[in-house]
Amino acid sequence: MGLWDKLRQIKVNRAGVSHDQDVEGADTSDPMEGYTEIVASEIVDEKTCGRCAGNDEHEYTSMAEARDDYPDGGYRHCENPSGCRGTLVLMKDGN
Ligand SMILES: [Zn+2]
Repeated sequence: MGLWDKLRQIKVNRAGVSHDQDVEGADTSDPMEGYTEIVASEIVDEKTCGRCAGNDEHEYTSMAEARDDYPDGGYRHCENPSGCRGTLVLMKDGN
């Protein structure tokens, strides 16, 4: 299960919609709803590739931009064959 599926699941659960009522064409839904900030968070150490390290703490201004860089929950430009451990952190106002 990718990051976006998880986010969608969270949204669905919050809305009180059961699994059986999963919305058709859910790909067009925006799991960013209710979030004000999207920031890339890479665990930077000696195993982290340069591209991921360089993207750490990158702030996205739109859901589309963030999703483009992290299509499966990891940085798309990652050079590490086994993948680095970056992900997106979504923040809400007032928390
Ligand atoms: Zn990487």
